[in-house]
Amino acid sequence: MIFRRMSKATDAGQGLWPAFAMLIAVVVLPTAGVFWFMNQAMQNEQLAMRQRLTELYRTQLQTAAERIQTSWRNKYNLLSYNIHQDSVPEAFALLVKAGHADSFLVYQKERLVYPKSVAFSRISAEPQTILWREARRLEYGKNLPKDAAETYGKIVRQSTGAQESALALMAQARCLNKAGLWPEAIEVLVHTLGGDRYRNVADPQGRSISLNALLFALQLMKEPSRPSFQKTAAILIERLNDYRVPSISSAQRRFVMGQLRALWPDCPQFPTFAAEELAAEFEKTAPDQLKPGQVQPTAIKNLWVYQTPDKTLVALFRQDHLMGILESMIAAQKTVNGIELSAIPPGAADLSRQSENIGDAFPSWKLALSIEGGDPLQSATKQRIATYVWTGVLLTAGIAMLSILMANYLRRQVRLTRLKNDLIANVSHELKTPLASMRLLVDTLRDGNYQNVQLTQEYLQMIGKENVRLSSLIEGFLTFSRMERNKAKFEQEVVQTGEIVRSALEAVGNRLQAPGCRLELDLAPEIPPVIGDRDALITVFVNLLDNALKYTGDTKEVRLRGYSSDGSVWIEVQDNGIGFPRSASRKIFERFYQVDRTLSRRTGGCGLGLSIVQFIVAAHNGSVTAKSQPGKGSTFTVRLPAA
Ligand code: ADP
Repeated sequence: MIFRRMSKATDAGQGLWPAFAMLIAVVVLPTAGVFWFMNQAMQNEQLAMRQRLTELYRTQLQTAAERIQTSWRNKYNLLSYNIHQDSVPEAFALLVKAGHADSFLVYQKERLVYPKSVAFSRISAEPQTILWREARRLEYGKNLPKDAAETYGKIVRQSTGAQESALALMAQARCLNKAGLWPEAIEVLVHTLGGDRYRNVADPQGRSISLNALLFALQLMKEPSRPSFQKTAAILIERLNDYRVPSISSAQRRFVMGQLRALWPDCPQFPTFAAEELAAEFEKTAPDQLKPGQVQPTAIKNLWVYQTPDKTLVALFRQDHLMGILESMIAAQKTVNGIELSAIPPGAADLSRQSENIGDAFPSWKLALSIEGGDPLQSATKQRIATYVWTGVLLTAGIAMLSILMANYLRRQVRLTRLKNDLIANVSHELKTPLASMRLLVDTLRDGNYQNVQLTQEYLQMIGKENVRLSSLIEGFLTFSRMERNKAKFEQEVVQTGEIVRSALEAVGNRLQAPGCRLELDLAPEIPPVIGDRDALITVFVNLLDNALKYTGDTKEVRLRGYSSDGSVWIEVQDNGIGFPRSASRKIFERFYQVDRTLSRRTGGCGLGLSIVQFIVAAHNGSVTAKSQPGKGSTFTVRLPAA
């Protein structure tokens, strides 16, 4: 027996190893393949994504650069186009105030028109008539300023031209000042020369006389806190800010503005002063030729210059201002969400993801692209990777599940094969004993012992018994084999529980009436019927009763109890027999399992009775359990759903 079991185990083991190796191959190889492909696909995806994005970024940058350049050129071309040649200073002031640049230089036929820094000649601008000579002789030669002032006054009264009288008034005020007659001098300067008549009068060098007069008056007044100073200063400021007056040159304007600021540090800001100064400063260092249509650096630090292609307008930009203008042009561009563009001046560090030259209008300037809120490449790749990983995981899970199913199938097949082998071995083994004893008995009888009638009777009885045992064994095998092939078809009819129990008792027959045997039947009167196969159900209890009788000593106490609860019918078969250990209470339902094989040999079992019981009960949606204590008896409880 031991040998048989060992050989079975080895057979099964040998049979299983290739299957398991195959299984591992089936799981491991495709999984490795899936992961390899996934990895490869992920790498490709990353590469492709990077290329797509680079392409997208380049297109974005190129279009934006193109547009920025176009709108830049359009803007300054339009500004230059809109300059009227007869009101250039006015155009200058407007452009500066509108903030289109930090300063401008306006040209006409390649000659600078405004702002021009003209150096004035020191030659006296005063006329050379007899009266003028006389007045100058009194003023400078004789040092009689009061008389000179009177003579200048005479010139004013005689003169017909506004320029001559303005010059004479200026000289008169100068002499009054020299004579210490300041109120009179101021009166002439502010009220006469500062009046509207002389507003547009310029001296022969092109300087506005009234502007100089007002400045002179303020110099005489000295105290900026005085109302007369404030009033005069207001007139002067208004004239300085008025770019419609053609008689004011930019040089004079800058000079007077500077003088006024020196006299009165708190004077209001001139909106164009910085632009005038910047233009003058640039002009000093400006190259002879600019490159029209290009933003260029200048000799002044952080100052950029742009000349329109028609060469009419030269715009000067401090770098910050230029950046600001570019930023606003960039902001007007429509870009893909999450992409940020910025201008990078030459020489500045470019930390962006990608950059492109802006174009001819901005040599060496770059348009850089950066990404808001993290790298989209990374997030897109992450998403892809997640998809791949999930696909991989699902595929692997699928493969694993299929493998488990396959393994289960294989295990079932192996078990079935083993069972078949077991069955054949068991059947031959079980059949061998009764056949051998029958042959022995027959041989004994044949050898002449049949004359002894009593012995013959005894032997024949023994042969009959062996025969019965043989039949029951074969019956058991057949039932088992039917079950094993899953071909046992059960009827579905309403069967009275009492009837089943009684039929089973009847089938067990007079073995229950033997001396020393006591049966206690306790069946609840209202016990409901069950649905199922009558004969099969009887077999269940016959087998249980049979065991109860088989595995008890000489005094057999069998108790059969039936009751209903929870919609089920419960039937217990209890005995006072040898019992079995707790560890066996599940195993005894396995086919061919026997707690004590030597004992079974005597009782004539083959380990199939309880597996038949379990099979039938399970087929009726019920269950069977066993409880026992060695030496004290066992209880088998069958539960069947009530009809
Ligand atoms: P067998 O033909 O050997 O009786 P069974 O399937 O009916 O086969 O029982 C399996 C084993 O369970 C038995 O060999 C026996 O060891 C044990 N067994 C079954 N019923 C009882 C019982 N009432 N008391 C003690 N042991 C039992």
